[in-house]
Amino acid sequence: PVPVVAVVGRPNVGKSTLVNRILGRRQAVVEDVPGVTRDRVAYDAQWAGRRFTLVDTGGWEPDAKGRAAAIATQAEIAMRTADVILLVVDAIVGATDTDEAAARVLQRGGKPVLLIANKIDDQRLEPEAAGLWSLGLGEPFPISALHGRGSGDLLDEILKLL
Ligand code: GDP
Ligand code: MG
Repeated sequence: PVPVVAVVGRPNVGKSTLVNRILGRRQAVVEDVPGVTRDRVAYDAQWAGRRFTLVDTGGWEPDAKGRAAAIATQAEIAMRTADVILLVVDAIVGATDTDEAAARVLQRGGKPVLLIANKIDDQRLEPEAAGLWSLGLGEPFPISALHGRGSGDLLDEILKLL
């Protein structure tokens, strides 16, 4: 069976941008307005000759209060259905309560999780990624989904976990 990699995180952190970066084409819907991605969308992905299914998550969250629960639920679904989970966080914003709620779910899960510190668009921003150690998911992996910075290394890391 083809392994499944799920991308979870709160709206607007760059999940769909990362999915497009990995696919090498624009297929996932990227929007400045949060909540545009339909609930879960699966794509056929490939890197270094290995195939995997990449699942983008989103959904419509009516308000900030409902949002934490929605993301935690996405994390729980990912935990049950994926082989590797990427928790994407906006490293410039830093860890929010919603990120922490998702991280707690993923800590208990026993599935491999990569903590993605996104929006590290240049080297000066690297120190921002270190702030995400507080999520308790190990070393934050700094990338810029928008510019592709770090994405090759990230894909190599994903393959090691499949
Ligand atoms: P999603 O809601 O998590 O799927 O987030 P999107 O992929 O739709 O991205 C939300 C916004 O963040 C868009 O305006 C993206 O262009 C922007 N974005 C995504 N990744 C990066 C990045 O690495 N750096 C910067 N500066 N912006 C990004
Ligand atoms: Mg999206």
